[in-house]
Amino acid sequence: MAMGNGVKEMEEQMGREVSRERRKVTELSEDEVERYSRQIMLDSIGYEGQLRLRNARVCITGAGGLGSPIAMQLTAMGVGYIRLVDRDVVELSNLHRQMLYTDADIGKVKVEAAASRLKAINPSVDVEPLAVSINEGTADDVVKGCDLVIDGLDSIDARYALNDACVRAGIPYVYGGALGMLGSACTVLPGRSACIRCIFPELSDDEMPTCSIEGVHPSILYMVSAVQVSEAVRIITGQEPVLLNKLLYIDLNDLSFSTIDVSRNEHCICNGINRGKRVVATTTASGSIVFKVEELCGRDMGKRTFSITPKGILAIDLDAVARKASSLGFKEKSRGEMGITLVSDGRSFSVLRSGAAVVVGVESEDAALNLYNAMVEVKQ
Ligand SMILES: [Zn+2]
Repeated sequence: MAMGNGVKEMEEQMGREVSRERRKVTELSEDEVERYSRQIMLDSIGYEGQLRLRNARVCITGAGGLGSPIAMQLTAMGVGYIRLVDRDVVELSNLHRQMLYTDADIGKVKVEAAASRLKAINPSVDVEPLAVSINEGTADDVVKGCDLVIDGLDSIDARYALNDACVRAGIPYVYGGALGMLGSACTVLPGRSACIRCIFPELSDDEMPTCSIEGVHPSILYMVSAVQVSEAVRIITGQEPVLLNKLLYIDLNDLSFSTIDVSRNEHCICNGINRGKRVVATTTASGSIVFKVEELCGRDMGKRTFSITPKGILAIDLDAVARKASSLGFKEKSRGEMGITLVSDGRSFSVLRSGAAVVVGVESEDAALNLYNAMVEVKQ
């Protein structure tokens, strides 16, 4: 229950070792050759490329508007191992664009619902759901052991943390973003091309528009995710990605695709300055765990919504949460291995085993944190 070494906790959560040995596949079965025949025929993939896909380990961060079509495409295409990372639960307002989920999944932990759907799409793919929030304390562990990271996140802070972790570990990183009718994408090869901080050095989540204010057209998400998948497949199969030092903009209004040239910033962390710096799980002077509380887009008809993220990965006892919640008059809406959603009086409280939570329908940050403290016992 102690706060600490993230990987150990994460291994516990997943019930197996994150960095387990790779068993390299050197031959495709007859079934595999048939299943993937239409892409094996392509010069750009071929038998060798399919083998590389089969042996690839890909981390998809975010299982929402971009992450869900990315995960479905890469699963269907036969990527051997997919680690899917998300901190959230499925909402009714996700379903118009996130086709991984159905009505029956509302309230479930996204990655848990996604894993079973992805298994159905392609049973031979090893899908590892990771229900954690990505921040500077967790990002290094999240990307560990993967060959490639694809970004389907919706927060700038999480993106910076992910970018930095990829730069430190030298892992290729395919960025994508979409909002309204517009989308963008870019590929980062650490040490070779501009990273996200080189391109967007000073963005802040407070200044960014969000889905619940701007809306988003599902088509732009599928276009951007398709571009990201194409870049990922190029990298995995040993080809040069197209979007190195190039930022692609797609405008659904006139179906225009344009790229702008970007370049590395010599003062950026990706150029070696501050490289290796890492923020670890933080504790206060009194020894209590530090939580970050952020207001998200309003949910459930505009109710105020807050995310609570420990700076590190915890191991919460969900049975204890359920008992506590029941004594506080909450009812269980959804319960899985990785998290639980509880509701009472128009409020909704979802918490993951890793300690991250989303609270809907409270008045303030303090009220969200108070509810968290009332529900969750965090042992030191
Ligand atoms: Zn950079």
